[in-house]
Formats: sequence, structure tokens, C-alpha cells
Amino acid sequence: MRILAIGECMAEMAPTDAPSTYQMGFAGDTFNTAWYLAQLTPETPLSYFTAVGDDAISSRMLGAMRESGINTQQVRIVPNRSVGLYLITLNNGERSFTYWRGQSAARLLAQDKQALAHAMMQSDLIYFSGITLAILNPEGRAALLDVARSARRGGKRIAFDPNLRPHLWDSSSEMTENIMQAAAVSDIALPSFEDEATWFSDKNPAATLQRYARAGAETIVVKNGAETVLYRTRGAEGSVHVPPLASVVDTTAAGDSFNAGILAGLATDTPLPDSIALACKLAGHVVQGKGALVPINQSLLDSCPQP
Ligand code: AMP
Repeated sequence: MRILAIGECMAEMAPTDAPSTYQMGFAGDTFNTAWYLAQLTPETPLSYFTAVGDDAISSRMLGAMRESGINTQQVRIVPNRSVGLYLITLNNGERSFTYWRGQSAARLLAQDKQALAHAMMQSDLIYFSGITLAILNPEGRAALLDVARSARRGGKRIAFDPNLRPHLWDSSSEMTENIMQAAAVSDIALPSFEDEATWFSDKNPAATLQRYARAGAETIVVKNGAETVLYRTRGAEGSVHVPPLASVVDTTAAGDSFNAGILAGLATDTPLPDSIALACKLAGHVVQGKGALVPINQSLLDSCPQP
């Protein structure tokens, strides 16, 4: 199975122990998922679709993607643009984020509808998120959903994480309307209950699950932090216990890494409850480390199904 992840990767400046000294890295929700996925199932062909600029930082980003085992052949190069940037500030151990992404080339990723359609044609499973949609203009969103809808009709599977980020949208109603339009073109929905409860007023994870089922998703996995994961696939429902952790260091990319476990399971035809157990194990490891991209240890990789 060939997988395509679509979205924005940004340059990250993370504080180090030395005052006013930052370490540069690359991260972004769908990219984080691809990064974990490349390690979980290195045999699975995996591409990232985005747009970057034609400057030095853009080529460095593409190099970092390739080094992680992610194919960048479909990435669009937009002259005179660059990549988005965010800076992490630590305040008594609490991380806060400042973003510069208004002029990011990734905002133009859906401008060339044919390129998007071509990338989807070369894949079997297509993954994007609410953040992918949020950074696009209305025409770009319509183009992405249109191409995804056609790809689905042509037999491709579409996986979607709503990843609700109200500050990226003009209004909460614009966000919720667009999210449900994306859900309507998706086979697999991967929502996080806490955010869904806030913005859709879901009373419990079962209500979240039902809402995405009504939108047309065949497989739904509702994440809920340390609480039980609820799922439904082809009409069968169940839940998977989340192993408790002694300590949580940083929840950045918990959901992104969890999604990588689910996509790895889909790529290898693993039964969904087993994929969820793997996803919990991986996300549990990630929240015990700092930052979005936490190196995975061999024992975790050994427990992974291979295609
Ligand atoms: P979330 O998107 O916050 O619901 O979290 C995604 C996944 O990360 C959850 O389904 C868990 O597998 C894992 N996770 C997040 N927070 C915790 C926690 N405090 N303890 C254990 N696992 C967690």
C-alpha cells in the first residue's frame, strides 16, 4: 500500500539549555505522522505532498524529509516563497508557541489541482488533517476536497484527523463546517474527543463517533488522552484501554504519532484493535519525551507489524 500525507511542515526553533540559543528542527502535524510512519513501516512507500519555497531552508527541509525515509518527489516548489516557522518559548516548564506561517508556501499546496490529483493517483491511502485545510484559502480547500472525493470514488482510501485549531480559522463555524465537509469525503476519521467536545458540544466519545459515522466514515477512532480509545469499523464497535503512564513530559504530537500507528496498521492489514494498541504504545512513548519527533526505540519497532 502506498501512502500520501498532505499538509504543512515548518521550521522549528526549540530552546536549548544555553541562554538565547535555539536548535532548529522540522515539524508539523501531518509531517510528524509521516515521520513516525516511515519508522514503523519502512517498507511502505510513503510520500509527502506540500509546497515549499526555492530558498536554502526549503531545500534543507526537503533533505530532512528524505533522510527520514519520506519521498518528496511530489512536493511543489513555489518561487519567492519560503517555509513557515515557529518558535518554542519555555516558561516554568510550560511550552508556548509563536508562529510565522502567513506567507508559507504550503498555503499554496492545492493551487495546482492537477498536481494534487496526480499525487493521489500514485497512492492508495491519503492522509490529511484539519490543519491542512485551515492553512488553505477557500478555493484551495474546495480543490483539495474535490480531488479527494474523486480519488475516493476511484477506490483510494482517505484518512482524516480533524485536528481542530480555532486560531487558524476566521470563525469557529467556518472551522466546524469545513471539518464536517472533509469528514464527508473520508473513509477513516481520527478525532480527539477533548477538542471535539469543545467545538461540537459532543457529550461523550460515543457522540463524537456517531457524528463521524453519520458523515460517512467507515472507520472511526476516537482518541481521548489517557482515557479509553473508542472505535468503530465496518459496523463493529469496541474500545481499547490506554496503558497508564508514570509521567507525562510533553504531549506534543501525541495524536500525530497515534495516527501513525493506525495508518501503519492499515498498510499492513492489521486488525484495528491491534493497531490501536500499537498507536497507544507509540503515543505513550512520545508523550514521555520532549518535542514532536521523539526517537523510537527498537523494542517498539519490533512490536510493529510488517507488510
Ligand atoms: P489525545 O489526542 O490527547 O487524545 O491523545 C492521543 C493519544 O495519546 C491517546 O489516545 C493516548 O494513546 C496517548 N496519550 C495522550 N495523553 C496520554 C496520557 N496522559 N497517558 C497515556 N497516554 C496518553
